[in-house]
Amino acid sequence: MRRFLIAGNWKMNCGPYDAAELLEGLKEKKAEVDENVDVLVCPPFVSIGMAVNYLHDTDIQVGAQNLHFEENGAYTGEVSGSMIAESGCNYVIIGHSERRQYFGETDTTVNKRSHKALEHKLAPIICVGESLDQRKSGEHYDLVKNQVTAALFDISKEDILDVVIAYEPIWAIGTGETASPEQAQEMHEHIRKVIGGLYSEDTADRINILYGGSMKPANAKELLSQPDVDGGLIGGASLDAESFSEIITIAE
Ligand code: PGA
Repeated sequence: MRRFLIAGNWKMNCGPYDAAELLEGLKEKKAEVDENVDVLVCPPFVSIGMAVNYLHDTDIQVGAQNLHFEENGAYTGEVSGSMIAESGCNYVIIGHSERRQYFGETDTTVNKRSHKALEHKLAPIICVGESLDQRKSGEHYDLVKNQVTAALFDISKEDILDVVIAYEPIWAIGTGETASPEQAQEMHEHIRKVIGGLYSEDTADRINILYGGSMKPANAKELLSQPDVDGGLIGGASLDAESFSEIITIAE
């Protein structure tokens, strides 16, 4: 019932020139993708227009890495949901741990941004996940439950069907350390139960839950074969056309 989603989070990498080169490589390897897999790249804002133009004749979609929750106005340096939608995106990453850690993102702003994304028909990829200390002290299940519950506050039973959750244990992001397939599966199952409790089991069964944190070709197969892992949010490996397309092939 669920389709895999393989999403590349380029973070603060690749202005238009580097983006063109990366996308050229990706297009050569993977312009067409199996129908059971959705593929997405999320470049920085300045490269979005170029990526949308570049990829219009492929199966690869484009998303943003953040949006502001106000519609427009005096918010220097910010980009709104309507602008992102108008640029040709259909997804937006929200509440990445780097935004929570370095840019003051909170559960409340994550919720506001998610509402705004949905209003503009952008599917929010809402990131949740615990630090190593939180895992060691055994609070990771409660923490993730609270993050998911807060992020989804007041999102309707219709809109929830467009939401994607990305479980990204902070200790596995950019560290080369990956959650084991069992650890990922346990948390994904937990997240699905939380959504089931907030909405219904049927709804929870339809929501995509991605894993993120050092996913690469060498570990993608095991992670993606877990029953509740519906794809990946991929940082480092998405900056290499070969690695990213290999992960797509594994999902197919
Ligand atoms: P990583 O990043 O794959 O480089 O660990 C994932 C992410 O932060 O989305």
